[in-house]
Amino acid sequence: MNENRNPAGNDTDVLIIGGGMVGLTLALLLAREPGLRITLVEAIRFPALVPDEPLPYRPSFDARNTALSRRTVATYREMGLWNAMQAHATPILQIHISERGHFGMARLEAEEENVESFGQVIENAWLGLVLLRAVRACPAVTVIDGAELVGIDTQRERMTAHLRRGDEPLTLSAPLLVGADGAQSAARRLLGVAAETTPYDQVALVTTVATHLPHNNVAFERFTEHGPIALLPLPDERRSVVWTLPQGEEQALIDCSDDEFMRRLQAAFGKRAGRFVKAAKRFAYPLALTVAKAQALPRAVILGNAAHTLHPVAGQGFNLCLRDCLALAERLQQAHRAGRDLGDLGMLRDYEDARIGDQLNVIRFSDGIVRGFSNAMPGLTLARNVGLVTFDLLPVAKQAVARYAMGLNQ
Ligand SMILES: Cc1cc2nc3c(=O)[nH]c(=O)nc-3n(C[C@H](O)[C@H](O)[C@H](O)COP(=O)(O)OP(=O)(O)OC[C@H]3O[C@@H](n4cnc5c(N)ncnc54)[C@H](O)[C@@H]3O)c2cc1C
Repeated sequence: MNENRNPAGNDTDVLIIGGGMVGLTLALLLAREPGLRITLVEAIRFPALVPDEPLPYRPSFDARNTALSRRTVATYREMGLWNAMQAHATPILQIHISERGHFGMARLEAEEENVESFGQVIENAWLGLVLLRAVRACPAVTVIDGAELVGIDTQRERMTAHLRRGDEPLTLSAPLLVGADGAQSAARRLLGVAAETTPYDQVALVTTVATHLPHNNVAFERFTEHGPIALLPLPDERRSVVWTLPQGEEQALIDCSDDEFMRRLQAAFGKRAGRFVKAAKRFAYPLALTVAKAQALPRAVILGNAAHTLHPVAGQGFNLCLRDCLALAERLQQAHRAGRDLGDLGMLRDYEDARIGDQLNVIRFSDGIVRGFSNAMPGLTLARNVGLVTFDLLPVAKQAVARYAMGLNQ
């Protein structure tokens, strides 16, 4: 813990609720502004850091792997964090998209698109280690962990957060509160912001596997009659699996033996990646699209999964959140430099207005892929396959999708 200031004091400029991928990244971005003081509150205690070991699984930094777009990688590089992340990341050099049982197939090559990679895949637990280590080394950030947000009061000049750490109540206040506390955000609820949630009735089954063939840095996205399966390259010739299944089908795949799991995965995915020879423990994540009705409020911003939680099919959720973090940090740094109020609603609305277009595009893109490929109508299947084949032949369309996935087009 990095409680280098009185936790109940009022000496903070920005109070971030939630120490997941988004909260930690925003804290580090803001800390680059000299004189800006940040307090980050996280409900679950952070562990003691063991050098060169990933974080023990915890919210945000769990069994998942994240495909970081080129823009996200460039940001972490600029923040001086990429060297530490790179040791645990694998570049994607080819993307292979296909539909099971049909002829359509599309391939994107990094070389053809004139980029060194489409992005990098990193295990969340390693990403978490690098982010947490950087936050702990940062004197401008005070971390209060094991403390849950339970109440919020908005005053004219400050926002007061009521926290509970075990039986101990704590109170913190700052000119600005950022709610980065995930899809079920308490901050969002306590601020009175409604969210629209559309369940997909699907779960993402996540694990890592090995195949008898090397991965050659290829990412596969394979659409099956039950939903998409993504296979992403990882260090040590492992592959990350995200298998989207109808809700209810996941438990049998979690409980069965590794051999049985690989047999079923092989039957669903086919042989394009080789024979599955090793599988790790399986974890399931229920999937829903959740969108907050507002993100900018007087003295508060709702950020990250608390603002928009997407289907992981296109690997865009965190990359989108990171672009939000950049836009918010830029405005807050400018306001701080100019001596302006960090909780000013006009400035916060300007942030939301600037980000809403990119957010809606990514939400529609991810949601459209899920709905387009989970519909088994014959006409649609044909259209999809013709689409995939022509897409493979049309360099312009390919480039557009590649640029989108890399986070370069907004
Ligand atoms: C299977 C899967 C695969 C994915 N793959 C990708 C990918 O390849 N690429 C990509 O870009 N995105 C991906 N995503 C999306 C990505 O994981 C999310 O965008 C990201 O986790 C959002 O982070 P967050 O910090 O906003 O929220 P979270 O990760 O939910 O973190 C919220 C934090 O807030 C804390 N918290 C909660 N309540 C409170 C409270 N009351 N008080 C204090 N703290 C609290 C929690 O303990 C947690 O630490 C994937 C998602 C899934 C489900």
